[in-house]
Amino acid sequence: MYKIASSVALGDLLAMTREVLYNTNVTKEEKVKEIIKRLRKVYPHPKTALNFSTPLDLLVATIMSAQTTDKLVNTLTPALFAKYKTAKDYADAPVEDITKLISKVNFANNKAKNIKAAAQIIVEKHEGKVPDNMEELDALPGVARKTANVVLGNAYHKAEGIVVDTHVMRLSQKLGLTDKKDPEKIEQDLMQIVPKEDWIDFAHMLILFGREYCPARPHKCDDCPLSDLCPDQKV
Ligand code: SF4
Repeated sequence: MYKIASSVALGDLLAMTREVLYNTNVTKEEKVKEIIKRLRKVYPHPKTALNFSTPLDLLVATIMSAQTTDKLVNTLTPALFAKYKTAKDYADAPVEDITKLISKVNFANNKAKNIKAAAQIIVEKHEGKVPDNMEELDALPGVARKTANVVLGNAYHKAEGIVVDTHVMRLSQKLGLTDKKDPEKIEQDLMQIVPKEDWIDFAHMLILFGREYCPARPHKCDDCPLSDLCPDQKV
């Protein structure tokens, strides 16, 4: 009994020492580079879990996905995308018709109103094309920086910011990359330390990592590829 207890305690001590040494001797930039290097091995081709063919599809799916799982959104979008192919299709549709097709997501009626209103602006101001810049996307109803970053990164391969969803927010705090609580402030902190060429993939990888290894619910850390970089590791 005594031997087992000692060896566990020694293991804990070594892990804690390793973690303290690592976390006090590296800058946040170095730490984030190491996180990216390791996550790239686990997720060599990270991408959004939302299914889409066009920037418009992705904009609509991302508006739908707020406080809803991507999995559920993916079950609803085939019928929606088959019925509405252009911004004008959404702009001309009665809100009730859009609501009916997305009724399983949270706040379906509000989201349907935003989809229609955004489509009307896209038709009136952008010749039917989803904008490819933060300023014009951010100005659309139902679209904040997170949604704009998803569309820019995945549909246009443009990095104007970093997607900060619940996983990115929680894991950036947990891994000691930011002490902010507000998503836009977290994004600003991350943009200072994540190399720009990694902005798009970094968010995808953290989201995949959060789902697979580090969910918000209680979990074990046994197989975590970032355990020695994490001040919150449960040994
Ligand atoms: S060590 Fe545990 S808490 Fe830390 S990132 Fe890994 S799974 Fe999450």
